[in-house]
Amino acid sequence: MDFDLTPGQQSFKQSIEQFARESVEPWAASIDKTGEFPAQVMQSAAKLGLSGVTIARENGGAGRDYLSYTLAIEAIARASATVAVSLVVTNSLVAELVEHASSNGLHKTWLRKLATGQAIGAFALSEPGAGTDAANQQTAATREGDGYRIKGTKVWVANAEAAAVAVVFASTQPGARRDGITAFLVPLDTAGITRTSRDDSLGVRGLGCMDLDLDVRVGLEHVLGAVNGGFQLAMWALQGGRVAIAAQALGIGRAALDQAIAHAKTREQFGRPIASFEAIQFMIADVATELDAARMLMWKAASLKSSGQDGLIESSMAKLAASEAAHKAADRAMQVLASAGYRRGSTAERLFRDARAAEIYQGTSEAQRMIIAKHL
Ligand SMILES: Cc1cc2nc3c(=O)[nH]c(=O)nc-3n(C[C@H](O)[C@H](O)[C@H](O)COP(=O)(O)OP(=O)(O)OC[C@H]3O[C@@H](n4cnc5c(N)ncnc54)[C@H](O)[C@@H]3O)c2cc1C
Repeated sequence: MDFDLTPGQQSFKQSIEQFARESVEPWAASIDKTGEFPAQVMQSAAKLGLSGVTIARENGGAGRDYLSYTLAIEAIARASATVAVSLVVTNSLVAELVEHASSNGLHKTWLRKLATGQAIGAFALSEPGAGTDAANQQTAATREGDGYRIKGTKVWVANAEAAAVAVVFASTQPGARRDGITAFLVPLDTAGITRTSRDDSLGVRGLGCMDLDLDVRVGLEHVLGAVNGGFQLAMWALQGGRVAIAAQALGIGRAALDQAIAHAKTREQFGRPIASFEAIQFMIADVATELDAARMLMWKAASLKSSGQDGLIESSMAKLAASEAAHKAADRAMQVLASAGYRRGSTAERLFRDARAAEIYQGTSEAQRMIIAKHL
């Protein structure tokens, strides 16, 4: 067992940490406050190869391993949770999926655009009645002429505000649930798409979440993978995405720990820094331990993914443990900061809201427990 990073992973980690400190962190508060999609930051990230971290070089990507990808996402999330999720969606849920399933020139063209950051991707699976029960797709794709007509409503589509293309899941065999769903690569400037903003999101504000009303016609070449094989593709993408969301959660948790430590060292009560009180030290020690334990699970899941092994349970365990550890880290940071954190606009308050979403998107904590339990 080797816990050391290779020199290549180490130098990549350091370069992304520097980028996160200098070019992401200064924007984090304003992204949260305005709720505006961080297009400029995403462009800068793309120049460092962060739009297609694991995508093969011949497809326009950086060709790195999964562990390197998670190191980058954790570093970015420590600066801005929003930028990190946006990258996770376009990398794991779109570019990686297109690379995995592509079979024609149209797919290859989009893959290169995604991997180089010329295009941002979105993933449209959730619907008003299809959240945890993602197989309950009511969006229908019916054969019409030499293509498909896709009609329905998608909700909470991250990146949709800025994305050029979305993977849209639709039922092609009504009633067949997971065996009757097909994935389509749909350019978002196709006629018949209405985007409605979800600017009421509690946290990860600026993620460009939108609802999509679809009544579009696309050619057969837009089908990604096999007809009726879309649900399996969605689960494949989410398995990688969960490893990356674990990294995103750990970045938020680490930022919360930073806040708690810095405050504990400077805030004085009873004539001494509150860091000298055992009650404060123990909160910080527990948070650091739980974040590190979750990080080990994430590294294991990322290593399995890099080596092409299954890793289904490991990715769910990593996401479950990291999102719950991040939640606790944000909660304890709030306790250590007390009134200095419990006010609108404080970093601790933003982290508290941002952390919470990691237990919901890409499968709730209950969904992860169901996956883990089913395989035990
Ligand atoms: C910020 C944000 C970004 C998102 N981005 C995207 C995106 O880009 N693309 C996309 O497709 N979706 C996206 N989503 C949607 C997200 O994937 C869903 O919110 C999530 O899957 C949960 O679905 P739901 O909200 O409908 O909750 P529900 O499925 O209604 O669940 C409600 C509660 O019931 C529990 N529950 C449900 N079924 C069971 C069961 N069988 N056993 C035990 N408990 C159960 C859940 O765990 C949860 O606690 C996003 C959501 C958010 C908040």
